[in-house]
Amino acid sequence: MKVGIVGGGFLGMCLASKLSRKNIRVSVFEREHQLGGLATWEDYDQFFWDRFYHVILPNDSYLLTFLKECGLQEKLCWEKTRTGYYVDGQFHSVSNSKEFLLFPPLSMASKLRLAFTIYYGSMVKDWRKLEKITTKDCLIKLGGSKNYHKFWKPLLLAKLGEFHDKVSAVFIWTYIKRLFEARENASTEQMGYINGSYKVVFDQLEKIVESNNGKVHLNTSVKNIRPIDSGKIVIETEEGVSEFDKVVFTAPTSLADRLVSPDLLQVDNLHKIEYLGVVCLVMVTKREVSPYYVLNIADDTIPFTGVIGMSSLVNTKYTDGKYLTYFPKYVKSSSPLINREDEQILSDFMEGFYKLYPGFDSGDIISTHIHRAKRVQPIQLLNYSQSIPAVNTLHPNFYMLNTSQFVNDTLNNNSVAKHVENFLQSSPEILKNQQPIFNRVN
Ligand SMILES: Cc1cc2nc3c(=O)[nH]c(=O)nc-3n(C[C@H](O)[C@H](O)[C@H](O)COP(=O)(O)OP(=O)(O)OC[C@H]3O[C@@H](n4cnc5c(N)ncnc54)[C@H](O)[C@@H]3O)c2cc1C
Repeated sequence: MKVGIVGGGFLGMCLASKLSRKNIRVSVFEREHQLGGLATWEDYDQFFWDRFYHVILPNDSYLLTFLKECGLQEKLCWEKTRTGYYVDGQFHSVSNSKEFLLFPPLSMASKLRLAFTIYYGSMVKDWRKLEKITTKDCLIKLGGSKNYHKFWKPLLLAKLGEFHDKVSAVFIWTYIKRLFEARENASTEQMGYINGSYKVVFDQLEKIVESNNGKVHLNTSVKNIRPIDSGKIVIETEEGVSEFDKVVFTAPTSLADRLVSPDLLQVDNLHKIEYLGVVCLVMVTKREVSPYYVLNIADDTIPFTGVIGMSSLVNTKYTDGKYLTYFPKYVKSSSPLINREDEQILSDFMEGFYKLYPGFDSGDIISTHIHRAKRVQPIQLLNYSQSIPAVNTLHPNFYMLNTSQFVNDTLNNNSVAKHVENFLQSSPEILKNQQPIFNRVN
């Protein structure tokens, strides 16, 4: 059995390593010069860390099991973190219930309604009902308009930009559920990371694939995927064509209609899946910028919508003694901001930075980096589950497997690992005709 995998992001490599460990010969095609996709890494001069920020929660059971299977459990580190909120020109810590009760922008009555909303959200079992109502309407109904405008709207704007009032209530439900379960499992807000960043994960996954007779093709953009008479599937790249018994497409859905033959896939609905993009300033400094892992910003004069104090989580011994901070802004993938010059974005974001931290000495800034990605988060509009592409396609040997199929999960690597596991359980035919093992790693 030869399996071709289009896309070397976390999903593609998670699948490739799992198949490899079951002795299936895989070939991964990745258009970039390194693996990782959205979870890839950057060289910050003297150390590598993620291009975007990644955290692991204690309840990420699928991801934690997967990392253990890959022999990476020793690389996991856990730390107590804090969450902040910037509103009306002030920073507030909202890291535990006591601090939340002291949160000044809301009255006690509003806080009680807010607590009820969160508790109610964590108790909902049937997400399908939530697909029919927007997050905005649902939050106003449960917690009132004041809470919505003072507390939720800035958070939704930060996460969803102009889609903040269009997504279904499933979005906020999955979000609350993930955080609620994480807190249930720990008395304090504990978060995890991999010492050495996701680079360590992708290096290991590549090793597992290659030592089991698989191949990772970098700098190899897939141009076309089509069936041939023998029942096999052909992947065409600039280097030529290769035949496979089975092919799994893991790149974003919005790319599928350009790359996949209509004999393999019903393309009618695919354009309905819209993606949010992200623009992110990353700063390497000599001293700490923010004591919070996440600082939510409720101030539309600041050009970014959050501050991720990575070094409040990651021990600086893993980042060459330096501090790492991310300043993201989520925007529609067609937003002009995504295509603006780095210098223009940097200049706007630095202005916002000095509004938040006027006393920060510019001499303490070692370097700044602008990163962007066009297709990050599929937008869960009303009745989203009806427009997603199915895993099984028009052809028994071609599958579509990506994050646009998450109908009741937030976008994170735990959901990715779960999606891959569910796929393997429901498609055992991909595991047939296993090859003999050579030089097996893990
Ligand atoms: C700002 C940000 C913060 C995040 N924070 C967290 C977090 O804290 N915790 C967490 O668990 N997750 C987090 N995530 C989510 C995590 O990064 C994603 O879940 C994960 O990267 C999705 O992987 P994927 O393989 O599905 O998609 P992608 O990473 O998009 O992979 C798709 C791959 O397909 C490749 N590709 C596309 N077209 C072609 C082609 N024609 N030929 C060949 N290859 C092609 C792409 O180059 C890419 O490598 C975050 C993401 C972002 C952007």
